[in-house]
Amino acid sequence: MVASIISGKEFASRLRKKVTTQVSKLKSSLGSVPGLDVILVGNNPASEIYVKNKAKQTIEVGMQSTKHMLSKNVSEDELLKQINTVNIDDSVHGILVQLPLPDHINTQKIINSIEPTKDVDGFHISNVGLLATGQKAMIPCTPLGCLFMLKDYHQDLSGLNAVVVGRSNIVGKPMAQLLLNENCTVTVAHSKTQDLPKVCRQADIIVAAVGIPEFIRGDWIKPGATVIDVGINRISYQDSGTTKPKLVGDVNYDEAIAVAGAITPVPGGVGPMTIACLLANTTTAFCRINNVEEPSWN
Ligand code: NAD
Repeated sequence: MVASIISGKEFASRLRKKVTTQVSKLKSSLGSVPGLDVILVGNNPASEIYVKNKAKQTIEVGMQSTKHMLSKNVSEDELLKQINTVNIDDSVHGILVQLPLPDHINTQKIINSIEPTKDVDGFHISNVGLLATGQKAMIPCTPLGCLFMLKDYHQDLSGLNAVVVGRSNIVGKPMAQLLLNENCTVTVAHSKTQDLPKVCRQADIIVAAVGIPEFIRGDWIKPGATVIDVGINRISYQDSGTTKPKLVGDVNYDEAIAVAGAITPVPGGVGPMTIACLLANTTTAFCRINNVEEPSWN
């Protein structure tokens, strides 16, 4: 068996087109467009690239994009003041504080200071609680992108056994909640899980969010299972005596593709979906704030 490839790149492109259409309709009917404000503290090179990409794509779909670049030495109080300014600004519908923050800043306190209706990352404690209780929440972008691809591929996830490897607040836990809300039987595996290969072999769906290159092996996968690889790991390899960089996931792709029924590649899988979902979330936030019908992105 050779697995079908679930192209996040193509799915994300379709989702961005839907967002563009929605934004244009909102502009015609309400005379305004969704605004996404991104706050970046310090000059972590990876964060700068993420913020630049987010701003570029925000503008491409017709939204308003504003970047707030703060010094790495900014105090927690100054950052809270900046967040309050955008919280009460009616032209801002989505607020994203790029993580990680410097050590002297309490990340959870900052996240919880964002107005929950504008919390397009879905990390605010209110949104975490709403999702956990199956209510209307802002849903974290990476697991939301994984869910969109899974629902598109399977149509109905009800009754499937899902194993989520990783229990982080930004990927593993919300992913498990989303799959539970879709009536999957969900197992969350983590660094203390015993006999992980055996746990994975029970899965109709594996979502890998571990952060270890090519960690999930082919013989851990049930034949025909769907594999969503969230991992983004930069490794180097030797090619004709030269060291070259390479991006790999948390799943051993070459082994998995021979066993799985479907798999997301790295790059071109979950990664592009994350930013597309951020744009979708910002549009959803705009609709909720303005009391207009929110789009169904499926
Ligand atoms: P994290 O470090 O916060 O969490 C990793 C999780 O893996 C932990 O819950 C830990 O218990 C588990 N784990 C560690 N070692 C393990 C082991 N030996 N066996 C089983 N479980 C183990 O990471 P994260 O933020 O959830 O990110 C996970 C991966 O996803 C990383 O590669 C990250 O770069 C990637 N990521 C990608 C996107 C995207 O847009 N595609 C977004 C976020 C994260």
